[in-house]
This record gives sequence, structure tokens and C-alpha cells, in this order.
Amino acid sequence: MIHRWKKYQELLEARRRELCEELARKRAQLAIESGGDMLDRMRSFTERELAVRTVNRLTRLLAEVDLALERIRDDTYGTCRACGRPIGARRLTAVPWCSLCIECQEAADRGDLEAA
Ligand SMILES: [Zn+2]
Repeated sequence: MIHRWKKYQELLEARRRELCEELARKRAQLAIESGGDMLDRMRSFTERELAVRTVNRLTRLLAEVDLALERIRDDTYGTCRACGRPIGARRLTAVPWCSLCIECQEAADRGDLEAA
């Protein structure tokens, strides 16, 4: 259908599958109840915190991947949502779910640009 972005669509769909599998694993890990002595509980608490952070990070990334796939469908993919300029192919290959060009991303990282 939209062949221009086929390569990126495939990259995104592969990433999406990986993220879903990783999320399922992490969520299963979180579902395990902790027992044992105090030290065990403390350790598993730290591990839990880590797992929660990982789940949050993966969930955010998955949402970005989904949005990028949506942009492919809308044919707004590959255009910076801040300045409207095309995003470079190299950047899209490295970060296929990005919605900002490198200049705007750097501005966002500095806090100069209102990040979504
Ligand atoms: Zn831009």
C-alpha cells in the first residue's frame, strides 16, 4: 500500500513484536510473589523496582512504535512533527519510531523544545 515506508514499517513491526514479548516476560516476572527472609524481600523489592521501570520504559517505547506505524498509515511518517522538515533516512533507520528530526530532538533533549 505505502511502499515508500515499507522498510521502516517492517523494522517497526519487528520491534513491536520484540517489545510485546519482552513486556510479557517482565510482567510475568512482576506477577511472582516474593517470599523468603528480609534480605530476600529487600532484594526482590529492588528487582521489582527495576522491573517496574523496565515495564514503563518498554510501554512508552511500544506506544511510540504504535504511533510511528499510525504515521505510516496516515502518510505523515518521516516528517518532523516540530518543524515539518523531512527526517533523514539515517536517523529513521537508527530510530524508526522517531517523530523529530535530529535538530529538534537535540533541542528537546536540551529542554528548548516542548516534548510531547
Ligand atoms: Zn525538526
